[in-house]
Amino acid sequence: MKNIILTGDRPTGRLHIGHYVGSLKQRVELQNTEYEKFFIMIADAQALTDNYGNPSKVRNHIIEVMLDYLSVGLDPKKVTFFIQSEVKALPEITAYYMNLVTLNRLLRNPTVKSEIKLRGFDHEDKGIPVGFANYPISQAADITAFKATIVPVGEDQLPMIEQTREIVKSFNHVYEKEVLMMPEPLLSENEVCLRLPGTDGNNKMSKSLGNCIYLSDDSETLKTKIKGMYTDPTHVKVSDPGHVEGNIVFTYLDAFSTEADFKKFLPDYKNLDELKEHYRRGGLGDMKIKQFLFNIMEELLIPIREKRKYYEAHLSEVFEMLKKGTEEANGYADKTLLEIKEAMGIDYFTNASFFDEQLKKYE
Ligand code: ATP
Ligand code: MG
Repeated sequence: MKNIILTGDRPTGRLHIGHYVGSLKQRVELQNTEYEKFFIMIADAQALTDNYGNPSKVRNHIIEVMLDYLSVGLDPKKVTFFIQSEVKALPEITAYYMNLVTLNRLLRNPTVKSEIKLRGFDHEDKGIPVGFANYPISQAADITAFKATIVPVGEDQLPMIEQTREIVKSFNHVYEKEVLMMPEPLLSENEVCLRLPGTDGNNKMSKSLGNCIYLSDDSETLKTKIKGMYTDPTHVKVSDPGHVEGNIVFTYLDAFSTEADFKKFLPDYKNLDELKEHYRRGGLGDMKIKQFLFNIMEELLIPIREKRKYYEAHLSEVFEMLKKGTEEANGYADKTLLEIKEAMGIDYFTNASFFDEQLKKYE
């Protein structure tokens, strides 16, 4: 049996280099492997759970995210792109799953817990919207509606996959039918890529935190952001010994640099270990490592910016892709919804056996 792959992003901003190393790069590799179907969802309904007061932010980033996808090389011939809220079966599936999860279980979810703090829902005047607390269930509906077996994600999404697996197990058990497929998360192999920190040193680069290097940043913006990056506060003079742990420039070099980059841009060093050693010893300035990081990032981003420009000039193509993909996604999700309703015995009009049973009762 071939895999179905599903993954997605919230249209809350343009995509950043954390998305690139944590997920996009892997998707581009995955699209050239064997699978039955590869879906990428723009999770606008999920984005609204914590941006309900700002729907125009979500609306304005749908095409932006599509442009980012295409600019990194995701291929519409291999991948089906769709908009979450336009797939009508998803909220209905979510509603049935809501009976299989306790309120306590939802609020125990570590990602939900930390996002509650992050979004300020723990302040007295705000409170946690039901829709927000419920988003792990809605995500389970997204994954299972497409019978996804592989879900490429960043580390912060692991609790969501765990929640989905619990729902799959519970649904198939309660309704005594193997309707839902068990999904597996697929994480990046490089540890620093699991959760790339922000340029401000925050432990996660995130659109909502404003600490991002965007894939669409121009050369000047990239330079300014790298220049302003946090390094090691104890490394004042070039000759001072420095720390590489917690030094974001080195974290990014861990994520992005290769030996080929050293040959090309910094031939005095063979690899990152040698560079780190020199920094620890003292005598290596921040400017030099930042310039090296800039060269690497610039080389990565130039073709991405160019591809983006092409699609910016062909927006109707992009819009059509999304429309066609969403139609196709509806076909898949409708089919699963029918199977779900059948397993639950609520397929009153789509299955003749309901009426036959009633007839028999009154024979
Ligand atoms: P928001 O702040 O709105 O939540 P985000 O930047 O966290 O936005 P999402 O759309 O929530 O982005 O995440 C999309 C995917 O990218 C998820 O699989 C997530 O795990 C991954 N991801 C997001 N940020 C990072 C990061 N800094 N490092 C690695 N992966 C990431
Ligand atoms: Mg997020």
